[in-house]
Amino acid sequence: MPWVVALTIASLLAVIVSIGFGVRETKRRKELEAKLALLLSQNAKDQLTDRLTGLLSLEGFESALTGRADKADSAGGSFCVIYLALDELGMINDGFGREKAEKLLVATAEILKTITGEQAAVCRINGGEFAFYVSGGINIGQDVAQKLCRRMEQSIQIGAAIMTATCSIGISAYPEHGAHQNLLSFAALAMRTVKLAGGSDFCVYDVHMGTNMRDQVSLLLDLRKALELGQFELYFQPKVDSETLQFTAAEALLRWHHPEKGFVSPGVFIPIAEKYGLMGPIGRWVIAEACTKAANWKSRGLRMRVAVNISGYQMREDDLMEYIESTIEQHGIAPNRFTCEITESVAMEDTKVTQQTFEKMGRAGFHVSIDDFGTGYSSLATLRKLPAAELKIDRAFVTDLEANEDARSIAHSIVSLGKTLKLRVVAEGIETVGQCEILVQMGCDELQGYLFAMPMPAEQLEEMAFDASSNKSKDFRASLYSSTLMQGLN
Ligand code: C2E
Ligand code: MG
Ligand code: MG
Repeated sequence: MPWVVALTIASLLAVIVSIGFGVRETKRRKELEAKLALLLSQNAKDQLTDRLTGLLSLEGFESALTGRADKADSAGGSFCVIYLALDELGMINDGFGREKAEKLLVATAEILKTITGEQAAVCRINGGEFAFYVSGGINIGQDVAQKLCRRMEQSIQIGAAIMTATCSIGISAYPEHGAHQNLLSFAALAMRTVKLAGGSDFCVYDVHMGTNMRDQVSLLLDLRKALELGQFELYFQPKVDSETLQFTAAEALLRWHHPEKGFVSPGVFIPIAEKYGLMGPIGRWVIAEACTKAANWKSRGLRMRVAVNISGYQMREDDLMEYIESTIEQHGIAPNRFTCEITESVAMEDTKVTQQTFEKMGRAGFHVSIDDFGTGYSSLATLRKLPAAELKIDRAFVTDLEANEDARSIAHSIVSLGKTLKLRVVAEGIETVGQCEILVQMGCDELQGYLFAMPMPAEQLEEMAFDASSNKSKDFRASLYSSTLMQGLN
């Protein structure tokens, strides 16, 4: 411990000072001076080394980095600083215990030494954060970072336990990013940007990152209070049957009215809520609110499904299904009138909990929709096993339908796949009559997009439903849009 060393040094110094100059004393003094020199060098070495892993300490790395920059200045050439942080060290600590977490850090140190080679000056900064440098430009730094990400995605055996510890990596470069004293903090900033975006990836430092990071942190602080301050609202966007043009369902889309920033898009705040554990309560609020509105429509005679987007985080919650089942029951909504929209990438996640949630959804008779289809990497075997009733063609393909042959082929394949698997195919993001015509010709079952209706507050959708439905019958006829549609389709 440093204070023990410091005390020993102090007492040795005191003894040396107090010794006189006799022959015996001179000998003793020399012995003590030698001891002191040894202790001081040991102390200096300790300060430069990380006790747990034997890597350099931060202090050691900083001095090595200065040396590396001097070399680049005198001999030319460039190098990158790479900052790596384990994504879930806290969870590993809680789940496996401190001893295993420390062994994981030692194993990570070994992986880093093997992949980076002798010259890298690998250091452990603290906890699960490491840094090192590699000679060469940004492309070399990216290659090394990619190799590390891939390696860390594989499992690591610690005693009898098998763990996976993904990592986030930030890269800064010399001389591109300026003075060497800033390289470590720039690489750390890039690493944190990766973490905020979900981790298990790498990116290169960019001058805008400081501002982005501050924005994200302030957004996170505001997001924590948004629910209790009542700043959320659900908008609804109808899905339209392509044959009858009736509204078949309304998809709930979350809106956050921020007091200063105004409207913040779910595309911005949902990834933050997912990452920082806020999606559980927000997701439950969405489900309850959607059910309240759907119960109200039902009481007024509107027969539409209500669709709710369910995130990856929610799919991994043990009690999600119990919560949905009790909420719909409380509001008198039949399970097949409640659609769970789950993105293709989450649906293909092969985690036990996610697949269990799917099984429970199937058993309970929910209407399951695979959202943003065509963007992920579907395994047909997995898709066939899912209790899905609907595929939603991703908006990207719909947008490009008129101009791009590939988008048309993909949309066509999705419609055929849907037919083969007896799933209803919905196209989202339809903005033009041309897109609508192509999709109807392909045999798409349901249509959704600004062409029919923008997402809107529940009350507005309700009013629109009654205005459009002349006889206020149970089936909501979308006569409001039929004229536009028919003009295009005829
Ligand atoms: P999504 O579920 O695929 O929703 C479709 C998005 O496309 C919505 O964006 C919608 O407003 C937009 N959109 C609909 N029609 C058109 C169109 O014709 N043209 C264009 N350009 N866009 C159209 P939004 O509301 O910003 O939501 C984005 C994503 O955020 C959603 O994608 C969904 O993944 C997620 N999200 C929204 N609300 C929730 C929620 O309550 N829970 C969860 N977990 N995710 C949500
Ligand atoms: Mg959706
Ligand atoms: Mg979608």
